[in-house]
Amino acid sequence: MKAVICGAGIGGLALAQRLDTIGWDVVVLERSPGPRTHGYMIDFFGPGYDAAEAVGVLPRLHEVGYVVTEMTYRDEEGRRRSGMYYDQVAQVELPQWSRDRVTLIGDACQAVSVVAGQGASLAIAAAYVLADRLSTAPSIDSALAEYERVLRPVVADKQEVARKGVRWFVPEARWQLPARRTALHLARLPLLDRYVADAVAGKPSAIIS
Ligand SMILES: Cc1cc2nc3c(=O)[nH]c(=O)nc-3n(C[C@H](O)[C@H](O)[C@H](O)COP(=O)(O)OP(=O)(O)OC[C@H]3O[C@@H](n4cnc5c(N)ncnc54)[C@H](O)[C@@H]3O)c2cc1C
Repeated sequence: MKAVICGAGIGGLALAQRLDTIGWDVVVLERSPGPRTHGYMIDFFGPGYDAAEAVGVLPRLHEVGYVVTEMTYRDEEGRRRSGMYYDQVAQVELPQWSRDRVTLIGDACQAVSVVAGQGASLAIAAAYVLADRLSTAPSIDSALAEYERVLRPVVADKQEVARKGVRWFVPEARWQLPARRTALHLARLPLLDRYVADAVAGKPSAIIS
């Protein structure tokens, strides 16, 4: 089987790796002329973490990753600031993800926003589930339908959690910043930390088997 993947982001590359593993002939198209020089550190948890474990790359991720114990906001001079400012925080919701033999994964169809902090994780999980269904379903149509059936409720849950959290993550007024800082400090207390983690991450999902 042959596949063309548009976009060498984390979702496209994860899918290329999975399809190559199951014996597909894969071409990846990327409009950027080369790897970008900037980047940002990401939290990595949730279904993408399970997928990374299932495909055996978790030890390597632990080697190159960091355990972050504290987060502070700093300005360009390194001075501590009470918060970050966003012009816009957006999600992507589409009524359907596939048409004929074309389908979408990652932010293109399921962006949950920076507030949810799981977009890369969900893109990797989507790649894993899509490749798995393409390797086992009786037809491409049924594989794409099954992929969306499994992923869509998980994405909808993370999007809803992010929408609920947006008010305190992206305060509308300056006076709300100290309240957010206090809430972040409280969130580190034993017991409360578990509650806050559940509220931020959404329901645990077992979509990677
Ligand atoms: C500040 C910030 C913090 C974040 N923190 C986290 C976090 O802590 N944890 C987490 O899991 N996620 C986080 N995310 C979200 C995560 O980065 C994204 O959800 C993830 O990168 C989406 O991957 P993707 O492959 O779907 O899309 P992208 O990374 O956007 O990749 C798409 C690629 O497709 C290419 N492309 C677009 N159109 C075309 C075309 N027509 N032809 C060819 N190529 C094309 C683009 O150039 C790009 O390289 C964060 C995002 C931001 C911005």
